[in-house]
Parts: sequence; C-alpha cells; structure tokens
Amino acid sequence: MIFKYPIKRSFKVCYYALMVLCMSGMIPTEARKSKNLPYGTIVIDPGHGGPYIGSASPSQQVIEKHAVLELALLLADRLRAKGFTVVLTHTGDYALDPRDLINDLKMRAYIAREVKADILVSLHLNSSPNEKIRGFEVYVPYEDKFPMKSYALASAIHYDLSHEVKPEFGGGTLGNVNTIDLGIRASKFNVLVHSVCPSVLVELAYLSHKETEKQLLTKAYKDTLVDALYLGIQRYFVHEKSASRASKVLPSL
Ligand SMILES: [Zn+2]
Repeated sequence: MIFKYPIKRSFKVCYYALMVLCMSGMIPTEARKSKNLPYGTIVIDPGHGGPYIGSASPSQQVIEKHAVLELALLLADRLRAKGFTVVLTHTGDYALDPRDLINDLKMRAYIAREVKADILVSLHLNSSPNEKIRGFEVYVPYEDKFPMKSYALASAIHYDLSHEVKPEFGGGTLGNVNTIDLGIRASKFNVLVHSVCPSVLVELAYLSHKETEKQLLTKAYKDTLVDALYLGIQRYFVHEKSASRASKVLPSL
C-alpha cells in the first residue's frame, strides 16, 4: 500500500472535504435524487487541479489541469442543457486534497458515491516520451464492479471519439499513420478502482505531440472533443434505457 496517511485519517479528510463541498453548494441537493430525474446524474472529473498539474505540453502552453477543466466545464454545460444533472468534482484550479495525491484521486470517486452518480467520467490528457504518439484511449476499472456498464460507457465514448475527432486531430483508426488508438483498456487508476458506479477515464489526446499541442489551443479541437464526449455519454444512456426496457419484457425463468 502506498497511502501516505493511515486509512482512518484519509476517510476523515474525505468526509471533511465532502462536507465543505456540500456546504459550498458544489454538490447540488437535487443530485442526490438522481433516480427521479429523467436522465440521471453524471459526475465529470477534470482529472487534476491545484498543485497536481498533470502533464504539460513541450512548450508549456497547454497544462493538463487547465485544459481538462475547460473541457469539463464546456461538457457540463452541454449535458445540463440536455436535461442531465451534472456534478463536477471541482470547478476551479484547486486540489481535493492538496496534502495527499492518492487521496485527492480517491476523493473524486467518493464524490460520485456521495451524489449517487449513475456514471463517472474522468477527463485527462496524456503524455509520452515518444512525441510521435497521438490519439486517445478510454479506460475502464480493473476488476470492475460494473463490467458491462463501464464497458458500454467506454464503448460509446470511444465510438464517438473515433467518429467525431477527425484524422488531422489524431482521430480515426485509419488515415493517419501517426495515430495510435489504444482502444479500451482496464486500469488500476485510483479514481476508477474506488468508484462505486460505472466509470471511465478518458485520455483525450497526447500533449507531448507538438501538432496536438497547437490544436488543443484552438476552439475547433476543443469543441470536437466536447461533442464526442457529449454524444458518447448520451449514447450510453440511450443504450441503458433500451436495455432496461428489454429486461422488463423478458419472461422470468
Ligand atoms: Zn491526467
């Protein structure tokens, strides 16, 4: 185990932070009544904040924590306009636990648990020493508690990233020799393994790729990524709704 603090203290820190978040209005009361809402509750996690900057592009013009927060805020607006309840794990440049990175990551999953989220989507940008690598990956939790649902969510988002992100932006499995689409993979990322709802972590692009770095500064590319996430999440809920209808009409054995 690599926890800096004993488990008891971690839970104390989590509980305190969650109380602060609730009191500050960051977690809306109605989010806890997700079962009564037509579309459910989505937790969007901009993967880094505060002292945990994530990756940085070669020229330092794009810092992961800033870029994923901007994308998360845009995505939240789109989903809310469609009728979803959206809770962000943080809405500014701060850490959930500035003293303990591991706990900071776990707390993102605890927020999803607190609001009884239907899904958790954690947003990241990747980096590699091989600056030719570009593209995206979608991760599901290793030893997932909701293997079918997490995979369905990952597949939906992966489908729309594959179709919405044009080859010149590193999308598509054909047409760009520099594109490396690593597909859907399982991971022991803290935010995933501590989640108690269907969850995915999306590495949207490689910051270490110089052309991608430039594109990440454009509105067109940001809009494309947000469109893909928005469509993928909607696709998942449509799929879930029809799956639940189908299960109701199946004869019991
Ligand atoms: Zn990251």
